[in-house]
Amino acid sequence: MFKPEKLIFDGKRIDGRTLDQLRPIKIEVDFLKRADGSCYLEMGKNRVVAAVYGPREAYPRHIQDPTKAVIRYRYNMAPFSVEERKRPGPDRRSVEISKVSKEAFEAVIMKELFPRSVIDIFVEVLQADAGSRTACINAASVALVDAGIPMKGMLTSVAVAKVDGVLVLDPMKEEDNFGEADIPFAFLIRGDRIESIALLQMDGRMTKEEIKEAIKLAKKGAMEIYQMQREAIMKKFLEEGENG
Ligand code: ADP
Repeated sequence: MFKPEKLIFDGKRIDGRTLDQLRPIKIEVDFLKRADGSCYLEMGKNRVVAAVYGPREAYPRHIQDPTKAVIRYRYNMAPFSVEERKRPGPDRRSVEISKVSKEAFEAVIMKELFPRSVIDIFVEVLQADAGSRTACINAASVALVDAGIPMKGMLTSVAVAKVDGVLVLDPMKEEDNFGEADIPFAFLIRGDRIESIALLQMDGRMTKEEIKEAIKLAKKGAMEIYQMQREAIMKKFLEEGENG
């Protein structure tokens, strides 16, 4: 990838965004017919699909938990989703992303309501441009609502990066590659309030002050994404109502 001389010019980013501006987002609920819940989501050039199955009886039986549902989350990148063809199948990175995303959803899904069950969340990245894990979490959250799975709130995810010494919201590939640091966040949001941080990872270095600022910026971005998630879900249920 070509390294731009500067990532920030006159307070604007190389794609014309201001520092605190998200990439354009598109959300389509109920994208797949066979899944219990599904969502197609675009976040800039990221294009992802989430499919939720369950709750259904966990099988084989030894994976069952008599007190709650088991949550499984699989993040997968299509071989054609990145510039150079990616070898198909799981790798260290996708195993790590699946693990941290699963843990974030475990904090949100009311899994005690479904003992001995499993809830499967599959996310497929069709095209990646940095922040694919955040796009996948946002899609998975909508797909879970579509599947009717009770949750303590919505999980909404966005990253903040440090590039050319300043913080930017929702970094794209060039900013991710050539920036100094990157923090993906996921927040539990309920009734228009951010209740807690369910995921926080960090790549690179930031000062304590910068981290505080990054949290503020991420919260602002997450609230905007949350509104779009809600609108997409409402639109789907309203349309369903109209069509009987
Ligand atoms: P995220 O997509 O959540 O930001 P990373 O920071 O690990 O995760 O990756 C940043 C970006 O790097 C991805 O969105 C993708 O565009 C690219 N990328 C990741 N893995 C690969 C890979 N195996 N081959 C080529 N590009 C990749």
